[in-house]
Amino acid sequence: MPSSSAPCDLRPGTTYNSNIRMVAAKILSHTPAGIRGNGTAMTETATAPEARTQADNLDLLAYVAVNVGLGLKPGQELVMTASLDSVALARRISEQAYRAGASLVTTLFNDEEGALARYRYATDASFDHAANWFYNGMAAAFKSGAARLAISGANPTLLANENPEKVGRANRAVSLAYRPALELIARHEINWTIVASATPAWAAAVFPGDAPDVALARLWEAIFSTSRINTADPVSAWRAHDVELQKRAAYMNEKRYFALQYRGPGTDFHLGLADDHQWLGGGTTAGNGVYCIPNMPTEEIFSAPHKERADGIVTATKPLSHQGTMIEGIQVRFEKGRIVEARATRGQEVLEKLIDTDDGARRLGEVALVPHSSPIAQSGLVFLNTLFDENAASHIALGQSYSSCLRDGEKLSAEALAAKGANESLIHVDWMIGSGELDIDGITASGAAEPLMRGGEWACSV
Ligand code: ZN
Ligand code: ZN
Repeated sequence: MPSSSAPCDLRPGTTYNSNIRMVAAKILSHTPAGIRGNGTAMTETATAPEARTQADNLDLLAYVAVNVGLGLKPGQELVMTASLDSVALARRISEQAYRAGASLVTTLFNDEEGALARYRYATDASFDHAANWFYNGMAAAFKSGAARLAISGANPTLLANENPEKVGRANRAVSLAYRPALELIARHEINWTIVASATPAWAAAVFPGDAPDVALARLWEAIFSTSRINTADPVSAWRAHDVELQKRAAYMNEKRYFALQYRGPGTDFHLGLADDHQWLGGGTTAGNGVYCIPNMPTEEIFSAPHKERADGIVTATKPLSHQGTMIEGIQVRFEKGRIVEARATRGQEVLEKLIDTDDGARRLGEVALVPHSSPIAQSGLVFLNTLFDENAASHIALGQSYSSCLRDGEKLSAEALAAKGANESLIHVDWMIGSGELDIDGITASGAAEPLMRGGEWACSV
């Protein structure tokens, strides 16, 4: 835990100087009108990025999360999930949501340390059990029009010393219980987004050599910079970035490649794309008509691979933090879309449990392209958090596809989606295969190869 003298003391109950609050209020009172109009008023009234306090930055992050990420509509309910260590950001998001006209904000806090008690004291049968009523309640909230915001900030090593078999069973039970709610999210029926809060345990894992308060401050700084909060006008910065991602996706949709061919250290991999696939990136209009940017940060354009058309060897370029366990040095071999060999230098057992979740867990549900020059890659940090690390590099995901990655996918039945090559699974786990040494070609329907990425950067301009 940080000491109380930490520059950004974020423990529950912390209040901050009322003078700082006034500065933040000034920024925010000018934000909506100015930014929606010409994108300049904010820089006139807001403090310059380097002069902003921690409180200013938190308020800006909350503002951007609600108004750009979520696009929350007046009268809409918000369901937010957060860990206890994220309470400072959660409260600011509540404030911004009500300022944006939310009818009700319901925040569900989870206690990571408390969760460990289960592994110490619960009966064996506990690990096949999940709070179905809770997840059904979430699905009911989404069906009745609530938006969803998740604050990410979990301790990446929380479950590292727990029995992988129990971790796997507990995860599976949650995946099953969460399925009805997750389907609404995956089909983009409602507006949703994920933002990050630095937490002491996460910061300690990312910066193990630093004192707790220094580590926490460094992680916040990294979150603010990769989430474009430390720009003169974060809302305009996000709008411009969104346009760039949309252009990249449009380019790929025009090309309609049949497959992608990857070459890099330890990787020689051919990945077919789903029939009628489409590339997405940046914001999307959800089924409820609200425009939202589902991940903050986001640097990827992504689509659906064909679940039966992956062949060759892929080596991960970053460790994968999965539900509290680190999996490192992943190398897998695919045949006809299915993993037939999987190795990891660390966490092999967890990896095996993961791909044994169901048949779809051995197949791919997402392919995503991210240039090596993305701010996250350039930070040089391994965040041990998928929201960040997946946006640091091109990646693929085991498990469930997004039906929105197929043309009119939201309207298709499960059978129709499967016939086009979309994958189905209880899991969706991204893992990073991109680096500054990765080359990718787009393979046309006639088999011609066109350079798409060279040395991790786009080889084509849009
Ligand atoms: Zn992705
Ligand atoms: Zn993904």
